[in-house]
Amino acid sequence: TLKLDINKIRHDFPILEQSINGKKLVYFDNAATTQKPSVVIEALKNYYEGYNANIHRGIHHLAEKATAAFEATRKTVKSFLNANSIEEIIFTYGTTDSINLVAGTYGRKFINAGDEIIISTLEHHSNIVPWQMLCEEKGCILKIIPINDEGEIILEEYEKLLSPKTKFVSVVHVSNALGTINPIKTIIDKAHAVGAKVLIDGAQASSHLDIDVQALDVDFYALSAHKLFGPTGMGVLYGKKELLEAMPPYRGGGEMIKEVTFEKTTYADLPYKFEAGTPNIADVVAFKFALDYIQNIGKTNIAAYENELLAYATEKLESIEGLTVIGKAKEKVSVISFVLEGIHPQDIGIILDQQGIAVRTGHHCTQPLMQRLGIPGTARASFSVYNTFEEIDALVAGILKVKKLLS
Ligand code: PMP
Repeated sequence: TLKLDINKIRHDFPILEQSINGKKLVYFDNAATTQKPSVVIEALKNYYEGYNANIHRGIHHLAEKATAAFEATRKTVKSFLNANSIEEIIFTYGTTDSINLVAGTYGRKFINAGDEIIISTLEHHSNIVPWQMLCEEKGCILKIIPINDEGEIILEEYEKLLSPKTKFVSVVHVSNALGTINPIKTIIDKAHAVGAKVLIDGAQASSHLDIDVQALDVDFYALSAHKLFGPTGMGVLYGKKELLEAMPPYRGGGEMIKEVTFEKTTYADLPYKFEAGTPNIADVVAFKFALDYIQNIGKTNIAAYENELLAYATEKLESIEGLTVIGKAKEKVSVISFVLEGIHPQDIGIILDQQGIAVRTGHHCTQPLMQRLGIPGTARASFSVYNTFEEIDALVAGILKVKKLLS
């Protein structure tokens, strides 16, 4: 396998060069958001300094340049996901927005009273609440796939929930709280066998795994740019063209229309039908640079290195007395959730922060999952390609200090 030059990669991320509380920053909160390489920061600056303009309608030079850059990102996303056409790539404000779009349009039009929607115990709140809101409005029923103690979906239980009443299945690809990789191909195929459509929440998966929406035959796939070294406030909804065409628009306004009269409005073609108003132009433009950056290093190289970090960290952390790793799925990405006997996760976070180590603590927007596991929350270290084995050693030393101070 190719050895990545991690020092060189670290230099691409200016934020990593700082100290916190007199200690070298160790950034282990990558599942919440990843840091941005200079090429992305530069792209934002170049856009605002060089060609800021509103897109699509302008005929002047700057508007044409901004439009071309905006649409170039769509092409890059199309190949990143291996979508069939650029019409299937909708720009949104993030995963949350993408899921709300599908629940609010496909859901409202095609899911009715008594119909069933299946999600899993592993879901982030953003893949729970929009469906609950739809069920409240339409009288449809939410069913939950249970998990085992390792944090894996129980496929036999999923199969039992499926029936001709199942109209929609919405499941996370990779759990942000535990790192579990779900067998989404199987989940998708089984849903299709009963005629249900499927959305996959790819917020976490897209930075670690190769995504091929055509091979998966997935109906909708949602992701956030900020988890992929891109800017905040920008995301993607992939949808199969025939489904997007059958769906009513989401928000009404400029950009999403063909013609407006007070009597009747006709809507724009895909993908613009779902992109009302002035979009997040700068961030969309910059996202292309993040995807190119990933492509240059290579997703497989990134994943291989992250898996080495995960194996190393798992072994080191599990050797700490009183520490329990939460979530032991066979298929996992580089996320480790853990608890320390007799110590509240928030106290772990505070004391690690004093040592310059950034981890996430709490319920990770997965309260029902925490209830299932019988814990209030965890401390979570999540690794990206710029992290190092030395940083994991620092985490281990940090945890030992937490124990010394608090137990
Ligand atoms: N789903 C998962 C699995 C996530 O990890 C997140 C972000 N933590 C989201 C959805 C929501 O993403 P965003 O906040 O970017 O909309």
